[in-house]
Amino acid sequence: MADCIFCMIVDGKIPCAKVYEDEYSLAFLDINPLVWGHTLLIPKRHFVTIFDMPPEAVAACGGALQKVAQAVFKGMNAEGMNILQNNYAIAGQQIDHVHFHLLPRRAGDGFKVPWPAK
Ligand code: 5GP
Ligand code: ZN
Repeated sequence: MADCIFCMIVDGKIPCAKVYEDEYSLAFLDINPLVWGHTLLIPKRHFVTIFDMPPEAVAACGGALQKVAQAVFKGMNAEGMNILQNNYAIAGQQIDHVHFHLLPRRAGDGFKVPWPAK
């Protein structure tokens, strides 16, 4: 998609701090991190929401998701992790290219999930 920021990142037209890459997926640091180590994982192909993805694309992304989440968790020496994925504006989606937020959590990091947490 010509006017999609994340497609431009995939195409190397916009720089990113790359965390992981394979044939189908790319992970990079969020430009405006909610916590230290906030990482985004995206499919390289343009899909607006998770509902637009064929099952094989979800499976490829899911495999990378677990791998990258584990690496970020360990690499950041985190105590916990939130994995969030927003679909449509009402749910907070700002970039219309599917992405998973990986949020390594540590006590006192200041991030508040919208449900009770320790
Ligand atoms: P959403 O609200 O759509 O779920 O999340 C979009 C995320 O993309 C936000 O956390 C925002 O900081 C991040 N973001 C937006 N533009 C860029 C960019 O150009 N580069 C990077 N690395 N992250 C971006
Ligand atoms: Zn895109």
